[in-house]
Amino acid sequence: MFIAFEGGEGSGKTTQSRLLAIWLRDQGYDVVQTREPGSTKVGMRLRAILLDAVHQGLSARSEALLYAADRAEHVEKVIRPALHRGSMVISDRYVDSSLAYQGAGRALDPGDVTRINSWATGGLVPDLTVLIDTPPSVGLTRLGGAADRIEAEPLEFHERVRREFRSLAAAEPARYAVIDGTLSEEEISRLIQDRVREMLPD
Ligand code: C5P
Ligand code: MG
Repeated sequence: MFIAFEGGEGSGKTTQSRLLAIWLRDQGYDVVQTREPGSTKVGMRLRAILLDAVHQGLSARSEALLYAADRAEHVEKVIRPALHRGSMVISDRYVDSSLAYQGAGRALDPGDVTRINSWATGGLVPDLTVLIDTPPSVGLTRLGGAADRIEAEPLEFHERVRREFRSLAAAEPARYAVIDGTLSEEEISRLIQDRVREMLPD
């Protein structure tokens, strides 16, 4: 099973993907917890390029292609091999982040972003995408100030990102769990577990 976590800055994806991994391992599942960008050797280099503030002004198309390159490497080297072994895979961010940040955020054509990513991933789609929906003002405040090139974008950019995540989820409700990111850490993890439990074999 492949589960992706999506959401804006400071939404708690990393914490919640860790809590879900622990919960699944407690039930005896083998779990690979991973993230984008930067979960492969080349991906770590790409992450550094993508997030370093010295690369302010990187072209939107280059940005989209570099995220897609990181994702291609991630799928081929980490995600597909783990799924083949029968592991559960939990990824902190996946294709929706590109539709939200490079598509809606950078105003690239959503059809183009979809196409380069379905090519990059060989069409691999998560079984479940957990969207932790958080107002950007709340998420960015939690971070306590922008740390990377993208977090430093204006609030309207992050509002566009949030709208896109929500509309992707609304278009495919059966494949998404949309969770209110302003709830407590415990409430969020319980809601996620309730949803994932429904998908587990008896
Ligand atoms: O999730 P994390 O904060 O580690 O992501 C790193 C950064 O990359 C974030 O600032 C996020 O906004 C950005 N990002 C992006 N486009 C993606 C994926 C991540 O701009 N497709
Ligand atoms: Mg971040």
